[in-house]
Amino acid sequence: MYRTHTCGELRLSDAGKQVTLAGWVQRIRKMGSLNFVDLRDRYGITQLVTDDNGPREVTDILNQLGREYVLQAKGIVAERQSKNSKIPTGDIEIKLSKLTILNPAVTPPFTIEDQTDGGEDLRAKYRYLDLRRNPLKNALMLRHTMALEARKYLDGNNFMEIETPCLIKSTPEGARDFVVPSRMNPGQFYALPQSPQQFKQLLMVAGYDRYFQIVRCFRDEDLRADRQPEFTQIDCEMSFVEREDVLQMFEGLVKHLFKTVLHKDFTAPFLRMPYDEALAHYGSDKPDMRFEMLIHEITKNVQGKGFSVFDSAKYVGAIAVPGCADYSRKQIDELTEWVKRPQVGAKGLIYIKLNTDGSIKSSVDKFYSPEELKNIAEVVEAKENDLILVMCGDKHKTQVALGTTRLEMGNRLGLRDNSIYKPLWVYDFPLLEWDDETQRFYAMHHPFTAPKPEDMDKYYSDDKYGLAEVKANSYDFVLNGTEVGGGSIRIHDSKVQHRMFEILGFTKEQAEYRFGFLMNAFKFGAPPHGGLAFGFDRFCALFGGQDTIRDYIAFPKNNMGRDVMADAPSYIDDVQMKELYITSTAPKQEEK
Ligand code: ASP
Repeated sequence: MYRTHTCGELRLSDAGKQVTLAGWVQRIRKMGSLNFVDLRDRYGITQLVTDDNGPREVTDILNQLGREYVLQAKGIVAERQSKNSKIPTGDIEIKLSKLTILNPAVTPPFTIEDQTDGGEDLRAKYRYLDLRRNPLKNALMLRHTMALEARKYLDGNNFMEIETPCLIKSTPEGARDFVVPSRMNPGQFYALPQSPQQFKQLLMVAGYDRYFQIVRCFRDEDLRADRQPEFTQIDCEMSFVEREDVLQMFEGLVKHLFKTVLHKDFTAPFLRMPYDEALAHYGSDKPDMRFEMLIHEITKNVQGKGFSVFDSAKYVGAIAVPGCADYSRKQIDELTEWVKRPQVGAKGLIYIKLNTDGSIKSSVDKFYSPEELKNIAEVVEAKENDLILVMCGDKHKTQVALGTTRLEMGNRLGLRDNSIYKPLWVYDFPLLEWDDETQRFYAMHHPFTAPKPEDMDKYYSDDKYGLAEVKANSYDFVLNGTEVGGGSIRIHDSKVQHRMFEILGFTKEQAEYRFGFLMNAFKFGAPPHGGLAFGFDRFCALFGGQDTIRDYIAFPKNNMGRDVMADAPSYIDDVQMKELYITSTAPKQEEK
């Protein structure tokens, strides 16, 4: 037996026991004649001790040790002289009788400590060493617990976990596909699933009325902190349901996770908000509800006073930033530069300060009397000492710019506390999004999402503006300004689905070629159905209080989609290329 106990297990009540531990050397210390080794495994750290007069074999080995050596230690559990209250095993130590090196280790390229000296790239290259550190270990533990609890809840509600294939025909979710060449079918490619969307719908046709899967999805899109080319969803689908049934069921899942993983009780129903309201008041389809600072439209209040910038704008909106009336000229200038960055997209910034002495000061004093400015302040629900920020332009773009500024000011004021959770359902999204560049509609969620029944007339009309107004029977689950889940009631009627493909610009033949199997299945008795998927990595990161999902994935990719540890993607040799009937137009790789 390599070990009788783990390194996190022994307590004072075990004193006197003969034990064997195994693990990695965290630290070696000498104090007078005493020699200490901290031995670490997944479960914790236990102190080993011997003095210079201890067994010869032990002291000989001690002298050879380095960090991260793998050891087996035998000895007796004893009460410690100086206890360490910071670790659960801090009351005891092991008086060594035997020490065996199971494997030596070269010096690691960074310290395996909670606060490490290793940079991000180095840690990514040696991910298996980084994973030895507590922050990552705890992140993966959290992920494990969340997956386990999700399975318990869903199993308890009659959901069956069913696997769907990875080598498939494309399922569009709005990203590029990763594709895999088929050796046995020259010139043909599989796509990796952007989601199991069509398969879960087929499972509904097959009668498996409650399906879920914790499943890997693949999307070839530009990456950022909360995106990876392969990521995990808790993917779910139900038959014979309306939107309300779906929301109730998965609100239950989220509450279960809060309770069992974070020990937080959410008894009240989650807030709900229509998409239009989210945009109007938060400038985003994923509002962060941890703070107010709502956007208010003031177009009517500011036009007709001779200020041409506002007069010519389609929309003027504002937020009141609490307690910031003392912003200096320099700070306002800096903020103005900030809002003009392409990521924010505003053309400029007008301010109104509600000073604590009751006076009011703005960058448009020339055009507006104090009375008029006070009126604006009222509409914006501003209070004394608030700084009102005003932007104008195209309605949607300005709302989004105000929304981005709202989040920035929330950050600056410390209003986005990661230990506070504000869940929200956003619903009634537009079904379609018009793209000026390609002059066509795209599905806002995906092309299998049902239009709301009351919008069916518009859905069948050829009027572009009417189509743009059709609402989808869809919903997103939003947590602290992050979209964690999304889904919809699906189209289950092949005629309605055909119309959708037509709106999206597919010819009959194209639709048949790409989605024929689904359309065909719908002819054989498809039940009304709907579902959703949670972005599992994001969910874990939010529960862990982090913004980046990378720590919650054992082996993530970097910003360029590279696995820097394994050095993938990589070139394949000519023989393999030939077998796959592939030639590359990429510049020739450097001879290695
Ligand atoms: N397949 C969708 C997605 O990946 C989720 C859903 O509609 O159930 O976003």
